[in-house]
Amino acid sequence: MPELPEVETIARQLRELVVDRTISDFESRWVRLTEPEPAEVVAARLRGRRISSVRRRGKFVVFDLDGGEALVVSLRMTGKLLYGVDDVDERYVRGQILFEDGTALRFSDTRKFGRMAVVDAATLESRGASPPGPRVPLHSSLGQEPLARGFTVAWFRALLRRRPRVAIKVLLLDQRAIAGIGNIYAIEALWRARIHPLRKAGSLRAAEVARLHEAIRWALRKGIRLGGASRRDYVDARGNEGRMQREFQVYARAGEPCPRCGRAIVRTVVGGRGTFHCPRCQRSPRR
Ligand SMILES: [Zn+2]
Repeated sequence: MPELPEVETIARQLRELVVDRTISDFESRWVRLTEPEPAEVVAARLRGRRISSVRRRGKFVVFDLDGGEALVVSLRMTGKLLYGVDDVDERYVRGQILFEDGTALRFSDTRKFGRMAVVDAATLESRGASPPGPRVPLHSSLGQEPLARGFTVAWFRALLRRRPRVAIKVLLLDQRAIAGIGNIYAIEALWRARIHPLRKAGSLRAAEVARLHEAIRWALRKGIRLGGASRRDYVDARGNEGRMQREFQVYARAGEPCPRCGRAIVRTVVGGRGTFHCPRCQRSPRR
């Protein structure tokens, strides 16, 4: 599933490819792609609009449109935004944006969990201001961007104090707290910071909070530098795989030696997600 580095990679590429292009039409081939809005309504809002920028918010790709609206794309598990790629498998194309110059941005998604919506761009900047709940779309209640200036050690410490009883790994994955961290980068960051995934957020000492803050940014920046991680489905906007999967320290390395101490990496399940850690470097919390 694409996380911050993968989505950032795609957004940076698309910025070079589609900014200043004008949308001539939008086609949906999957009835739930734009739900709850009908595809015709989305098409009417997109037609004639110029893309002024492409960016990332959390794990969403955001196309800013002239006029203050934005097209938000959630890739979820297998969604791909492809531009100028010749060998796209037509069976998995769920929608496409056509441009006046005859080119197209195609949305391919084998699992069909990806979604698109046209929203007021201001709703993306709430920084968790909206009350969480099933009726509030996730993109309008996203938390702090971990690579933004506002993600300071003091801010991070305050977050951990507000949620002291939750397991630290579960908190890192909460998109309404911090936006963009997923399973891979949470696991890598916790290993670097030498913190067990099940430690309660409120139990981290000041030095550990500072280490984890640094480790989160280290993991995410490394992922961006390597063009993202391709485990199963992820490819960038040009259809190429990333290289981060070659550089995992502990993710998907159960039984292999810890790069720091040599102890065998173990796999556990935390909050329903497969988790990897070093039992020597990342001591389990006392009962
Ligand atoms: Zn170790």
